[in-house]
Amino acid sequence: MAARGRRAEMMATSISGPRVLLKQLRETMAEPLAAQARLDKIVALIADNMHADVCSFYVLRDDGALELFATRGLAASAVHMTTLRLGEGLVGLIATQASPLSLENAPAHPAFAYRPETGEDPYRAFLGVPVLRAGQTLGVLVVQNRDSHVYGEDETEAMLTTATLLAEMIATSEFDSLIKPGQDIDLRRPRSFLGSGFTDGVALGQVVLHDPRVVVTNFVAEDTDAEQKRLANALDTMRVSIDRMLDHGDMQSFSDHRDILESYRMFAHDRGWVNRLNEAIENGLTAEAAVERVQNDTRARMMRSTDPYIKDRLHDLDDLANRLLRILTGDGNSLGHKELPENAILIARNMGPAELLEYDRTRLRAVVLEEAAAISHVAIIARSLGLVAVGQIENIVSVSESGDDIIVDGATGAVHLRPTPEMIQVYVDKVRLGAKRRAHYLELKDKPSVTRDGHAITLYHNSGLVADLPMLQDTGAAGVGLFRTELQFMIASKLPRLDEQVALYSEAIRLTEGKPIVFRLLDIGGDKVIPYLRAEAEENPAMGFRSLRLALERPGLLRIQVRALLKAANGGPIKILVPMVTDAWEFRATRVVVNKEIERLRHAGQPVPSKVELGAMIEVPSLLFELDQVLPEADFVSIGSNDLIMFMTAADRGNKRVAKAYDPIALPRLRALKHIVDMARRYNVPLTMCGELAGRTVESLALLSIGMNRLSMSPPAIGPIKEMILGLELEPVQRSVSAALLEGASGPPIRELLLEWAEKQSLVI
Ligand code: PEP
Ligand code: MG
Repeated sequence: MAARGRRAEMMATSISGPRVLLKQLRETMAEPLAAQARLDKIVALIADNMHADVCSFYVLRDDGALELFATRGLAASAVHMTTLRLGEGLVGLIATQASPLSLENAPAHPAFAYRPETGEDPYRAFLGVPVLRAGQTLGVLVVQNRDSHVYGEDETEAMLTTATLLAEMIATSEFDSLIKPGQDIDLRRPRSFLGSGFTDGVALGQVVLHDPRVVVTNFVAEDTDAEQKRLANALDTMRVSIDRMLDHGDMQSFSDHRDILESYRMFAHDRGWVNRLNEAIENGLTAEAAVERVQNDTRARMMRSTDPYIKDRLHDLDDLANRLLRILTGDGNSLGHKELPENAILIARNMGPAELLEYDRTRLRAVVLEEAAAISHVAIIARSLGLVAVGQIENIVSVSESGDDIIVDGATGAVHLRPTPEMIQVYVDKVRLGAKRRAHYLELKDKPSVTRDGHAITLYHNSGLVADLPMLQDTGAAGVGLFRTELQFMIASKLPRLDEQVALYSEAIRLTEGKPIVFRLLDIGGDKVIPYLRAEAEENPAMGFRSLRLALERPGLLRIQVRALLKAANGGPIKILVPMVTDAWEFRATRVVVNKEIERLRHAGQPVPSKVELGAMIEVPSLLFELDQVLPEADFVSIGSNDLIMFMTAADRGNKRVAKAYDPIALPRLRALKHIVDMARRYNVPLTMCGELAGRTVESLALLSIGMNRLSMSPPAIGPIKEMILGLELEPVQRSVSAALLEGASGPPIRELLLEWAEKQSLVI
């Protein structure tokens, strides 16, 4: 009876209770108290407000122990003495599951762990909630009562609201003075991750979040009605902006997929979500704190799911919550592009190549992505900028804070967040070793790139920015096998004019110092987004209206670019490469445009290039069956293995789940490549490989073994590939790979075969 009476009383106060409590807590935070005294007062206030006999607060330490930091009701001597491990006892369970637990009779629960020093024997009713930040558990807040009853949803809600405030206090180092020497809170624990390295090299620096979380500073509402109005207005603003993006197809500024926007729209109108936000405001939070609080719970719940669909939706919800927070806090565009620290390491879930190019390259050392595959364009750009890049690092965004120390190891794919001093020392040594290796590669730069049995292999750079061209001097490469002209378009804020294009190409020619340079015509579309060229949303952008298709349909763009290239040649030779040729007629149509522009120049009395060579990219499988049409007409050809293998295997190069599923040098792919080599030889047309395969040692060995002898790659790959070539006796490898290709499925897997040869010949692979 007494229990029921108390409960009725609690229910009656539970609506205004949390509001009053939050106000009291805010006042306590402003009082000049020592950390422990403040915390003691906080738990006392919570206990009083909740009519609880006990209120305890546990903080998760970096060693995985939950330490009792303050209590009202349990033995005071247990504070900073009692600990529970993650998963141990009810507190450990709540921390691990990151979800509230309400029990009528706690000691009867199988997970209950009795701690005699706390004197908690007499308490039965129990309610514990996780203290969360960005979905991560930082601690646990518990209330207990002697009598046995079930705490209801309102009490749980009130506790979660209070926990939001405590999370912020932990994160802002409010309780740091209470941490024992040699220990730290879990939030600052060093963390290591293993993903997929996109480049060789090591970078040490500070975290810069590409899409920084909005920091909520104002948690406690002055006026609940006003906060509810603010929320309603912000939701309206957000819904209107999503609708506008969907209606106008202007998706680049937010995200580039219609289905993502559709799912934003769905969430933005979700009654359950909006109700939870309003409930958090009812409990005394400001609108922005309510968004953070609700997102915390959702995040914690969804993170436990292993379903990839749910995880994707979690990303959508994160984006949406961040967007709403920006509207509420007026933090319109905090994309942090302005002030980068000296050794900035960019962390993002994913980003487009153009977004990466917006950063100040002189300060950027590395990029770490949760998604993206090694041959996605953002990875290619990172490589061409000389950045260390690692992808597929799950969850790094939510556990990193701007300014955290971080180490990125591109060779192994390891990322160490908040590294220990020992770890830093290991990597400082590695950096020194890397410098030594680079010095060694520098020594190779003037050596002819010839195998031990006399086969000359020509190595070229892939490039796209004039800034990376001076590297030719360090690598000794024979020239530029692929200059991706779209990069200039991607960094610009509007379409580069003819004279701007001429200036860039002339500068590129000047910087290559007489060595050959192959300019590829604009290859835009897919994930290479040009912000000012509005594109319609497409179901499959990689197979959509892109590249040469776009160029031929918008001949103005193509004509201007060809004109710029011919002018930049300034009477000298020029090589132009046509991307994404799917059908021979497209190549012919491009030739017509080029010829017209040559005639135009001649008419105008301007210098005509001494030689114009037009090449075709072989990167669409269909062209493999039309090589006898294209090869006689092409002055040279270049294989784009990134796209070719993507289309051959129907596996998106940018999708981490599938991009690595099929070995690009396994039998079917290598047979296809061999067919191109044989055909190019038959027609006596120079053939280069300019896909990312060329820059990887085992893969490039595969290419040499099928007779390829021109490889174009990102500049940092030249040294290792050249070293491999210098140690290689090619002919026996060629014989054995030819035999394996003939044998087919009954023969050995190609990769294993090559690794055996590498070992036999002591090649550095
Ligand atoms: C390719 O597809 O292999 C290629 C070199 O071009 P890009 O990566 O720019 O599409
Ligand atoms: Mg391509």
